[in-house]
Amino acid sequence: MTYFDKVLIANRGEIAIRVMRACRELGIETVAIYSTPDKNALHVKYADEAFHIGEAHPSKSYLNQNRIIEIATLCEAEAIHPGYGFLAENYHFAEQVEQSNLTFIGPSSKTIHMMGSKLDSKEAMSAAGVPVLPWTKGGVTSSEAGIAFAEEIGYPVIVKASAGGGGIGMQIVWDSSGIAEAIEKGMRIAQSAFGDPTIFIEKYLDKPRHIEVQVLSDYDGHGIHLYERECSIQRRHQKLVEEAPCPIMTQDLREKMTDSALTVAKVCNYTNAGTVEFLYFEGEYYFMEMNTRLQVEHTISEMVTGVDIVRQQLAIASGEPLAYEQDEISLRGHAIECRINAEDPLNDFTADPGKIVRYRSPGGPGIRVDSGIHVGYAIPPQYDSMISKLCAYGLTRIEAIERMRRAIYEYVILGVKTTLPLHHSLMHNRQFIQGNTHTHFLTDQQIMRN
Ligand code: ADP
Repeated sequence: MTYFDKVLIANRGEIAIRVMRACRELGIETVAIYSTPDKNALHVKYADEAFHIGEAHPSKSYLNQNRIIEIATLCEAEAIHPGYGFLAENYHFAEQVEQSNLTFIGPSSKTIHMMGSKLDSKEAMSAAGVPVLPWTKGGVTSSEAGIAFAEEIGYPVIVKASAGGGGIGMQIVWDSSGIAEAIEKGMRIAQSAFGDPTIFIEKYLDKPRHIEVQVLSDYDGHGIHLYERECSIQRRHQKLVEEAPCPIMTQDLREKMTDSALTVAKVCNYTNAGTVEFLYFEGEYYFMEMNTRLQVEHTISEMVTGVDIVRQQLAIASGEPLAYEQDEISLRGHAIECRINAEDPLNDFTADPGKIVRYRSPGGPGIRVDSGIHVGYAIPPQYDSMISKLCAYGLTRIEAIERMRRAIYEYVILGVKTTLPLHHSLMHNRQFIQGNTHTHFLTDQQIMRN
């Protein structure tokens, strides 16, 4: 195997450590970068080398493209792993990395560019025969066009930023009275949050499921999937709990969805690990977007397939052919991930950054914890509120739920409010136990409401 000798990890927190763990196993040296408040963070201690990059604000640190490339060159790293968030889906950064004689551990800048536009990717995938929801082709700039589209397909519709992410700027429109304002507001938010005002409108589904397929492809165009994940438990259109496999999956649906996911990867010349996201509603599924990076929830696919996705990312990026054929990948058991955020679930998930005064992480059979925190660690308010991922594996779904309940009982995080009590309620909720979930589940079931 011709892996890299040294890799810079352009991220922080649990994901930086996750990537470094794979590097350590493979004998690859690791380089961390850190902002001022992250001076004592775990990822800094874990790495072989660490460089201060700038002040707390992401634009001065984890988004500082030139400085990151400068450090990588200076310390003679051969590749950069972007993790998720920050620069992971920034095609300009990937391009800069490519041009600096370094390897970007992810797909090509071209692919990131194409899939970074929800609009372009929808158009390309629809042309390739992948099912998509009706949408305003070419984007929408006027309320007249928006109204005409909605009249044709029927309300409700959803306004989305083409360059969007993190659920930002999405607005549901129930009738023609709200269209003009939603378009105007959508363009404003898209411009300020993503630097691109392009928006589009698509048919809104009432309480669908979010199901996604993990794919891996190498430079020879050989691609496989690692089955699906169900990610319908969300707050503000962002995932809180994920599981693999999807509890309502049938063989026929799985064949169709994984086929579509591999078509998506082929059409955009995908290399490395990626995720194809679909909405599922009343027996039909629709391509939503492709995330051209390692996902937070890759852990549960690893647990049910036994494939270490980050190792595969490193192997693929270093030019190795994919180590697996599709028929060597099988599903065994069930895995659930609970995202532990420093947030108050009783107060609309308001962030609750602060100092961890007591910490005890769970263990025992079937439990995996990917976290970046420790006692005395002060969670900086500037970054993502997710502080840990608690994953449980069982041979059956109910065994995974039982282990998750037990691990939640064992998990002690004191000093900040967390989503742990919400996960406790959820793991005892009858509808959840039966697998009857959809994207509005948390609000509909009134879980953790005052
Ligand atoms: P982002 O990239 O901002 O995360 P996505 O397009 O991935 O946005 O959508 C995130 C979530 O928003 C989905 O999981 C789903 O809950 C909801 N959503 C998006 N599009 C639709 C739609 N057309 N109908 C219903 N819900 C939707």
